[in-house]
Amino acid sequence: MADELLSKQDIYDVIITGGGPAGLTAGIYTSRARLFSLLIEKLGIGGQAAITDRIENYPGFIGGISGPELVHSMGEQAKSFGMRTVFGEVTRIEVSDESTIKKIFVNDDPEPYQCLSLIIAAGHEQRKLGVPGEKEYAGKGVSYCATCDGAFFRDLSVAVVGGGDVALEEALFLTRFVKKAHVIHRRDRLRATKILQERASSNDKIEFIFDSVLDEISGQTTLDSVKVRNLKTGERKDLGVNGVFVFIGWIPSLSFLGDIVEKSEDGYVIVDKEMGTSREGIFACGDCCKKNLRQIVAACGDGATAAFSAQHYVERIKGEEYV
Ligand SMILES: Cc1cc2nc3c(=O)[nH]c(=O)nc-3n(C[C@H](O)[C@H](O)[C@H](O)COP(=O)(O)OP(=O)(O)OC[C@H]3O[C@@H](n4cnc5c(N)ncnc54)[C@H](O)[C@@H]3O)c2cc1C
Repeated sequence: MADELLSKQDIYDVIITGGGPAGLTAGIYTSRARLFSLLIEKLGIGGQAAITDRIENYPGFIGGISGPELVHSMGEQAKSFGMRTVFGEVTRIEVSDESTIKKIFVNDDPEPYQCLSLIIAAGHEQRKLGVPGEKEYAGKGVSYCATCDGAFFRDLSVAVVGGGDVALEEALFLTRFVKKAHVIHRRDRLRATKILQERASSNDKIEFIFDSVLDEISGQTTLDSVKVRNLKTGERKDLGVNGVFVFIGWIPSLSFLGDIVEKSEDGYVIVDKEMGTSREGIFACGDCCKKNLRQIVAACGDGATAAFSAQHYVERIKGEEYV
């Protein structure tokens, strides 16, 4: 999907910030409803799903589907209905009580895109460990994506930090390449779904280190060791690994929003059941919202609902609502 040359004079019916499953589904619905729709994405189409090797729980695909394939189709589908796309990072949003027009600033361009309604679909980002060595070795042994970097660790040992679904999915994926994946988890049991726990426990290449945290990442010339501390005994030991994969949770990517809409204590957008935010004309969907289930099917559902709400809002302010 190419970056399009678009006029900043246009006023879009809807701008969608973020091109993951939530934003793409919103785009399919708004453009199919013949709203003048623009999606702005800072990296590449597909969000987290684009870096997921295999998705087994998205309905309709027995045996699963590759993440990149699924989101590529979503993007093409939205485009086929007329959704436009721009690649760049939304850095600021300006709204005023006097006008229904919202101004969306991208990168450091002083001239904004303009829209009547805004759908925030910016997802969230991996939380960092915050230990010595993490920054220094980022991209040189420390990774937050097994699908992207796993193949660099063929026949080597790695540490995987975390105990949820993503940590186990990624550890299982890594076993295609690595000699050993040491899964380090701070508690004495995993949070991941049972089917993933069963698969990981029966995989010879995966070894669990429970009740423990990773304190430090180090190496002579390249990353070759981590310090692991047992939280119950206080014992510290060196573990020889060549890579560290971190999956310890998430933080929302919403700094561009400032305090324009109400957020939860942990920084997620608070939405009602129609995906409306505390500000009229601004909707949110997917992983950037305060909610319990962060999965593709849920993000798509949110995206469709947000699009429907945006459609009604736009029709209302244009005086075109069918009542
Ligand atoms: C390794 C892994 C495995 C997973 N496995 C599964 C699975 O098997 N099944 C499942 O259902 N779910 C799975 N998930 C979760 C699923 O991928 C997410 O729930 C889903 O992608 C959320 O979609 P989203 O559109 O809300 O957010 P995201 O996918 O995070 O997309 C948000 C998009 O917004 C963009 N963005 C952020 N800020 C800005 C900005 N300022 N300007 C412009 N663009 C911006 C980002 O670049 C990104 O492309 C997995 C996730 C990971 C990481």
